[in-house]
This record gives sequence, structure tokens and C-alpha cells, in this order.
Amino acid sequence: MNYFSTRDKSKRVNSSYAIKEGISPEGGLYVPESIPEITMQEIEKLSGLNYNGRAKYILSKFLTDFTADEINSCVDKAYANDKFDSPETAPIKKLNDSEYILELWHGPTCAFKDMALQLLPHLLTASLKKTGEKREAVILVATSGDTGKAALEGFSDVQGTKIMVFYPEDGVSHIQKLQMMTQKGGNVNVCGLYGNFDDAQNGVKAIFTDLNIKKELDGKGFMLSSANSINWGRLVPQIVYYFSAYADLLKYGEIINGEKINIAVPTGNFGNILAAYYAKRMGLPVNKLICASNSNDVLTEFIETGVYDRNRPFFTTISPSMDILISSNLERLLFNLYGNNDKAVSDLMDSLKKTGKYSVDAAVKSSIKEQFAAGSADDGKTMQTIRDIFEKYKYLCDTHTAVGVSVYEEYKIKTGDNTKTVIASTASPYKFSDAVLKSLKPEVMTEDDFKNIDLLCEVSGLKKPSALTELKNSAKRFEGRCNKADMPKELYRFLKIE
Ligand SMILES: *Cc1c(COP(=O)(O)O)cnc(C)c1O
Repeated sequence: MNYFSTRDKSKRVNSSYAIKEGISPEGGLYVPESIPEITMQEIEKLSGLNYNGRAKYILSKFLTDFTADEINSCVDKAYANDKFDSPETAPIKKLNDSEYILELWHGPTCAFKDMALQLLPHLLTASLKKTGEKREAVILVATSGDTGKAALEGFSDVQGTKIMVFYPEDGVSHIQKLQMMTQKGGNVNVCGLYGNFDDAQNGVKAIFTDLNIKKELDGKGFMLSSANSINWGRLVPQIVYYFSAYADLLKYGEIINGEKINIAVPTGNFGNILAAYYAKRMGLPVNKLICASNSNDVLTEFIETGVYDRNRPFFTTISPSMDILISSNLERLLFNLYGNNDKAVSDLMDSLKKTGKYSVDAAVKSSIKEQFAAGSADDGKTMQTIRDIFEKYKYLCDTHTAVGVSVYEEYKIKTGDNTKTVIASTASPYKFSDAVLKSLKPEVMTEDDFKNIDLLCEVSGLKKPSALTELKNSAKRFEGRCNKADMPKELYRFLKIE
């Protein structure tokens, strides 16, 4: 299967090129030329396999230039038992007759990004080999908090790669910052940025599309690649867990084969929910895709009105990984809904760049409304939801997941839709223990994050996450900061380019 760019269909590449390059040179995103189909019989078979088996099956539909051995080896390295603290990798928890939580945070950094970023380094090194690449791959990452750590953890000491992460100085939690500053590995670098996530993402995109930088790096034996969800290698592992969730519901007799489910996803860059959309297009029986935002509700408005407008105040919320006003992966959805029309997508993206705004045509608007529902939850609602869910079900969810739960529950009341719904749970509650504790028991809160983790354990009675508590005694290795304009300079310094 070939891939082409959302902004220029004339360039066709195979999946290893798409993964190696990350983004197409003219700024478009790689998408599959056609979407493979999965039958109900195949889904039935998946329910008899473990997570790795399911992943191998779904990946083989998209990575057609990889051999079965290559895919098997990548998957087995990524989802090894010592990496994920749940034998099911992505387990499902039932809250009530219609509400199921899909826990995607059992990997090493306690956020769902691990599901893709434990696999991507293996897909990338295989891709470098397959394409005869001699240069060293430099992974450049802009992060709203969780991607950075998950990418660092995934790429740490992976041969033939280096990784540099930029995070917004005031846009990530203290724990997230510590996770990145203390990262181990000889090939990693981390830098704080004076700005918000969109600044970081735009800065990274500018480096990617700067031909002079490309030439300079090329001369020194480096090539840039991306671990952000603009890379197809990030998206394809995410499609797997929606099939896996359905297969589990089947296996446990919660649904009958062919029964439609809803999928609700707390959304920022539109990567995770886009993976659910691809799963639906492949044949997973899905009724509605429910897109949940925090106060940065640009996507809610877009899904309801067909107008995307980033000219609005930017809010820093207690779900920082969703504090985003430019959702990059929406471009892939638009491409699909515009019938693979690269010209239409280029025009929309031009308009976004020039005016911060675009609107889709009536047909696309109605197709979006048919397949998606949307809603938002501010910090107050988010905290209320954490409290309610804990009181009702003794289930503890993090701030991002709570946005998903809140929006889903409002959707259910508003529409009366009783379809069984899988809600993507995107982080461990301990990763955002301050806000979670504040929601449950504000009177015991302290200024000390680690103390708050302990207190949260006492309140919830759950096990302490060692990956987070260990941070307390880890040495800080990276404390540098820079302005957006200096990002290329920081990169050169890391690569020891004069
Ligand atoms: C990244 C992230 C999100 C948003 O996912 P997108 O794919 O960017 O929409 C939600 N929750 C958490 C915890 C995250 O780390």
C-alpha cells in the first residue's frame, strides 16, 4: 500500500518512507492511499488473540512493505511484559451497562502516548534499514507534556537515533517537567520554550520545512524525523487498541458481533480520535465518535458549525495535554472527507495559516455531523466528574479522562443514546495527582507533588506508581530554556554543529 501527502497527491511513498520522513516536504501529512477493510469474521478472530497478536494483524494491513518477521519483532519489543504493567496492555474497565473505560496508560510513562511511542522507535529503525538510510535520524519533538516524555523513553539509547524535545515552559505540569528533565540516555536532549504548545509545534514545523537547515544537517550526516502524531508511525499503533477494545467487549460477552459502539476520546491534536475514525472506516462497528475538549474548545465549535477558528483566548487548564488550538491531525480527516482532494486541503491549511480560520463546505460539514458528536468540559466540570465517578464507582480517573467522561455523560443525557460507549482513558490519575487530589479532597492538598501522590494513594487505596515516585530522587540533567527563534540554534548545539 502506498501513502501520499494531504497537500500533494502526486508524491507516493511506501510506509517505511512515510515513517522515516514523518512529514511530507511541502508540509502535508502522509495518509494511506486507500483504507484497508476488516470483516466481522476477522474481528471475531482478533478476540481470540492477545494484544500483541491483535497489533500484528492490524499493522500488517497498513505496513505492507514490512515483512511479517519485521512487524512481529517490532511489536514484541514494544509491548513486552516489563514495559507495561498490565498483562492485557490496554485493559477495559466497566463502569456501568453502557460505559466502559479503555485504559491506555499502563506503559512506562503513565500516559497513552506510550501505546504508540514504545512501538515507533522500532518501526523507525526498521524503516531506516529498509530504505538504505545512512544518515542518523534526529527526532524532533514538540510536546504538550506527555509526548515528550514518552518519546524520550521510547528513543533513549536507540541506536542510529538522537532525540530533541521542546516543551512549553509554562504549559506542562511539574511532574511532566521532572519526567523530561531527568531523562536518561546518551542520545537525548530537552529544552523548555518560552511560549505555549502551539509555539513549540510551529517552531518544530518551521525547522522541518526549512530547506537550509535540511541541507546543513544532511551535510553532517543527519536527517530529521518526527515522533509527533503527524508521523504515520504514531497513528497506526493507535488504531490497534480500538479494535482490541471491541474484541475484548466481544470476548467478555458485553456485546454481540456487529453491535455498534460509541467511542469517546479526550482530544487535543486530534490524533487519538483520528485513529478511532480510521478504525471505523476499516469496518469497526462504530455509531458515534465523541470528541471531548477542555476549555480550549476549538474542535467542539468546528464539529458543530463547520468553522475552525483558532482566533480565541488560549486557556491553561488542568488537562494540559489538551491545551491546543491547532489540531494538526484534523488535516487527515479533511483530506478523507474531501474525497482525497489535496487542492482543497491545501487551500484550507493556507487559510488557517494566513487568517487562523477556515470553513468546510456543506457536504463535509454534514458528514462530520453524522459521524461525530462533540462537547467540552471546563476545569470545574472536570473536577466534579472526577469526584462523581470516584463516589459512584470507586474508579479514579485523571483530568483528561474526566473531560471525556463528562462530555460523554452530557451527550448521553442530551441525545438519549444508550449505545455502549468506550471512553479512552489517556493518563494515569497519578500523573496529574495535584488536580485529582484537589477534586477529591482539597483540604489535604499540599504544595509538594510527591506528598500529594502519597495522599492520593491513601484516599483511593490504589498502588503507588513507582515510575512517578522514583522521580523524586532522580538527578535533573536538562534545565535549559530558549525562545522560539532560537530553536534551530539549540538543535545545532545539541548536534555539535557550529
Ligand atoms: C496527548 C494527550 C491527549 C490528546 O491526544 P491527541 O491525540 O493529541 O488528541 C489527551 N490526554 C492525554 C493524557 C494526552 O497525553
